[in-house]
Parts: sequence; C-alpha cells; structure tokens
Amino acid sequence: MAEASDPEDLTVCSICLQTFTKPKYLPCLHTFCELCLQQWIESQVKSERRHYQQKTVFMCPVCRAETRPPTNATVNNKAEWANMFPNNHIIITLIDKSMIEKEKKACDVCNEMDKEMPATEWCVQCSEAYCGECSKVHRAMKASRKHRLVSLCDVLRDLKSLSPAEMCNDHPEEVIKLFCVDHDHPCCTLCGATSHRKCDNVLELSEAAKDFKNKQEFSDLLGNLNKSEKEIGKTSGMIQENLSKLDREKEDIERSANELADSLIAHMNVIRSRFLQEVSGVHARAVSELNTAAEKCSLQKGTIKNLRQVLEKSRDHSADTELFLQVKRTERKFKDSKVFIETKMS
Ligand SMILES: [Zn+2]
Ligand SMILES: [Zn+2]
Ligand SMILES: [Zn+2]
Ligand SMILES: [Zn+2]
Ligand SMILES: [Zn+2]
Ligand SMILES: [Zn+2]
Repeated sequence: MAEASDPEDLTVCSICLQTFTKPKYLPCLHTFCELCLQQWIESQVKSERRHYQQKTVFMCPVCRAETRPPTNATVNNKAEWANMFPNNHIIITLIDKSMIEKEKKACDVCNEMDKEMPATEWCVQCSEAYCGECSKVHRAMKASRKHRLVSLCDVLRDLKSLSPAEMCNDHPEEVIKLFCVDHDHPCCTLCGATSHRKCDNVLELSEAAKDFKNKQEFSDLLGNLNKSEKEIGKTSGMIQENLSKLDREKEDIERSANELADSLIAHMNVIRSRFLQEVSGVHARAVSELNTAAEKCSLQKGTIKNLRQVLEKSRDHSADTELFLQVKRTERKFKDSKVFIETKMS
C-alpha cells in the first residue's frame, strides 16, 4: 500500500519517505510509522550502550526534542515504546480517505494476515475496512454484531464515519467523550467521574466541538500559527542574508589582502631588478678596467723582454761602447716601465 511521493505530503513518513504505516505521534506532534519510530528509538538508545538500561529519553528525528516514552511504558521494554505512543487518527483518516477515493483501500483484516483483498465496507465503530468475506464475519461475531457497517461509497459521501473515536490517555480502553473546560482537557467518562468530579464545567465532547471551525479560538490559533510561521521565515531569511553578507565580507578581505601582497611583491621586484642592474654595471666597469690593465701589462712584458734580448745580443756581439750606450738607453727605458708597474700594482 505504501508508495513513495512528495515529502511535503502530510501522509508521508519523513523516515522511510513512504505513505505512513500505523502512524504514531510524539509529544512534539511529529508523526512516524510505528516500525520506523521503533527502529529509530532502538538506534538512539543503542548508540549509548553503556547506559542502555537506564536510558529513558530519545530525540525526535525531526525537531530533536528530548522525548520520554509514554507514562505506561517501562524503561526495559524499549522495543515496545513506539507502539505505546498514540495513533495519529487525522493522518490515518487522510490515508484511508485517499485510498478509498483511489479505490485502492485493502481489507484491514486480510492485511494483518498478509493477504491483499480490496475492501468494500467500513465499520464506523472499529474504523476499519473489510472485504466481503471479512464483513460477513464481522457482522456474525458477537462482539461486533451491533457495529454499523457502511459501504465505502457511502463513506466518501459522509466523511464523518471515517473519523475514529479517540481513546483516553489514562484509560486506553475508554473512548474520549468529555471535555473539562476547567482543566482544558479532553477525557473519558471514567476520568469525568474521578479526576474531574468536582470540576464545574465538564461538557460532552460533541458539544464542546460543535461548530468549532467557526469559533474565535480556532481562527486565533490558525492566525497565530500563520503569523509565527511568517516571522520565523523572515528571521531565517535574515540569517541567510547575514550568512551571504559574511561570505561577501570574507571575499572582500581576501581580495584586498591579495592585492596588497601583490603590489608589495611587484614593488620588491622593481627594487631587486634595479639593484641587480646596478651591481652588473659596477661589475662590468671593473672587468673592463682590469682587462685594459691586463692588456697594458702584456704589452709592457713584451717591451721588457725585447730590452733583455737586445741587451744579451749586444753583450755577445757589440763593442763595449755600443753596449755601454745600449745599457744607458735600456736603464732609462726600464725606469719608465718600473714606474708603470708600481702604479699598476698598488
Ligand atoms: Zn516510516
Ligand atoms: Zn519532533
Ligand atoms: Zn478481508
Ligand atoms: Zn466493527
Ligand atoms: Zn480516562
Ligand atoms: Zn477538570
């Protein structure tokens, strides 16, 4: 019977994303399939294995509200907690109505026995649909002999017969029939005769509910819910706006930090290349000076070598006077060269 559909659909479980099976609601009024809820509770209490035995709370899967099991549940039977939460009759009715409209409503009794049979009739007292066979049995059984069975077509014509009786929280066997105005609390006749015996204003439920759609209390509540939904929407819009503003501011700061660093780096690069240029200029000048000096040295060396060679030849082959004059010429020339070398070496 379950089929995946729109998550905004009120008849879809937010855990399994399928049409609800046995919808149960928590004190925060969030609704889940009984099985989904049970698995959720078990996974929640198991995540803290050390305290499994003492654990008495779990979190609502949607709003994270701390939730305690119903008062009649014991700490140890966690597997049954889900079953003890109240049925969400409004959701059950919505699903039943839509199934009947689509002519897809199956017999609830056969369903329990894992058989799929199209339902034809509806028991107003039991709020269950039956196939032809099961309707016959229901009519024949002593406990349900007086129940009113209507055909599913008639149910659609008069939707009131779909709404089941709700049971008292304190007396699960008793139908809620009264409403205590003093305590603002719906209750069963047993409660009426005990806890609310001394209350001044206890009404029949049908009387309290009569024409409630048009009462101020109803329109006020609906109006307040609408208003608060809009206000929360506005707040969440503002939060989103602040978030994106924060992002933009971060981007601006990053951009200007990058720009500043880039311009500092560019400036440093200019200084570096100017300095390197200067260094290479100085270097080139020094190199060229030394090259010139080396050239002059080599010329001077040639000159001196020539003086020595001429003097040696003259010693071996010339007359004394000629040698003498050559020595005098060489001495003068050599003196000039020595001056040159001394200035160069200093
Ligand atoms: Zn579910
Ligand atoms: Zn919740
Ligand atoms: Zn059946
Ligand atoms: Zn019945
Ligand atoms: Zn009661
Ligand atoms: Zn009361």
